[in-house]
Amino acid sequence: MSLQIAQLGQPVLRQVAAEVGAEERASAEFRQLVAEMEATLREEEGAGLAAPQVFQSKRMFLARVEPLEEGAPLPPPVVFINPRIVGASVEQAAAWEGCLSFRELLVKVTRPLAVRIEFLDLEGAARALDLHGFPARVVQHELDHLDGVLTIDRAQTTLHIIKASEIAAVKGVPPPSP
Ligand code: ZN
Repeated sequence: MSLQIAQLGQPVLRQVAAEVGAEERASAEFRQLVAEMEATLREEEGAGLAAPQVFQSKRMFLARVEPLEEGAPLPPPVVFINPRIVGASVEQAAAWEGCLSFRELLVKVTRPLAVRIEFLDLEGAARALDLHGFPARVVQHELDHLDGVLTIDRAQTTLHIIKASEIAAVKGVPPPSP
């Protein structure tokens, strides 16, 4: 069963989410939430989904950080609990990002190209991942959700906020002939 996704304007998207305690993490309810978020992410074909996006103000998100292979089934997302970015590259990159909470928009966001992220897994084990490129961008986007920050806040200018349907025009592709 997939969950309802909080859309831009819902206050939950603007709250700083609460840390997940050990007892909560081990609970059946929490595992159920993770399972339902996995199903939702699959259904929406997203790269990541943060708990506040399903109306749960908790510091947890799912993200696909494995390299995608053409034709292969989607790898399961990694569950990040109480994540922290503990290192970021000086080098930055800009890219257009979408968000399941406002699919209609794309926002050009500049972020560090590589990050090191520490988090707990579902069993409570401390883990760390060094990510580069798209996966690094996904975890930064999702971590922002835990702090109530959205891509539109990170746009350097409002010119960097567009309708998703017009991305071809932004990239200089001529409009389809009538
Ligand atoms: Zn998002």
